[in-house]
Amino acid sequence: MKDYNIQKLERKLRKELDADRYQHTLGVMFTASALAMDYKEDIMSAQVAGLLHDCAKCIPNDKKIRMCREYGLEISKVELQSPYLLHSKLGAYLAKEKYGVEDEEILGAIRWHTTGRPNMTMLEKIIFTADYIEPARFKAKNLAHIRWLAFHDLNQAVYQILEDTLHYLDSGKGEIDEMSRSAYRYYHNLYDETDDKGDSLTV
Ligand code: FE
Ligand code: FE
Repeated sequence: MKDYNIQKLERKLRKELDADRYQHTLGVMFTASALAMDYKEDIMSAQVAGLLHDCAKCIPNDKKIRMCREYGLEISKVELQSPYLLHSKLGAYLAKEKYGVEDEEILGAIRWHTTGRPNMTMLEKIIFTADYIEPARFKAKNLAHIRWLAFHDLNQAVYQILEDTLHYLDSGKGEIDEMSRSAYRYYHNLYDETDDKGDSLTV
C-alpha cells in the first residue's frame, strides 16, 4: 500500500471543486476515517478514497460525457439521461490518472460510491455510507438513526441508505441506475431471514 500525501492531494483537489463540494469532501474524508477506525480498516485508504470520491463532480455534465467518451469509459442509457452519475466512474479514472492512485480498493470505492453494488468491500461500504452521513448532510430522513447504525452494523446501514435512496428516486426525484436495484436486492436478502420488517420495495 502506497503512502499518500493527503495535504498534497487536498491542495490539488481544492482547485477542482466548489467550496460546498470541498467542504462535503472533507466531511466524507473524516467520517470515512472514523468508520475505518471503528471497523479496524486501513485509515489511509479511507482518507484517500473519501477525499477523491467526488473529484469529478464539478466538471460540467457535457464535459463529463465528452471525457468519458475520450477515455473509453462506457456510458449507459441512464447515465446519459443523468450525467451526474458519471462522476463516479470518471472520478475513479481521474483518481488513477491525475492523482496517482493505483490501489484498486480505493478506485473501487470511488467507482461505486453513488450506486453501491452487491457484495461491496469494506472500503466501498465505508465510502458509500460516509457520503450519506457526513456532518454537513441534513436533508435525508432517518439520518440520526443511520448515523448510529453506521458505527454498529455497517451492512444494515448500507441497506437502509439504499432503501431510502430508492424510495426517494422512485418518487420521481431522479433516474435509478440498475446497479442500485441489484445492490438493494442483495442487502435486502442479507436481512430477509433475520429481520423482515415487511416494508421492502418491489425492485
Ligand atoms: Fe458523489
Ligand atoms: Fe459525495
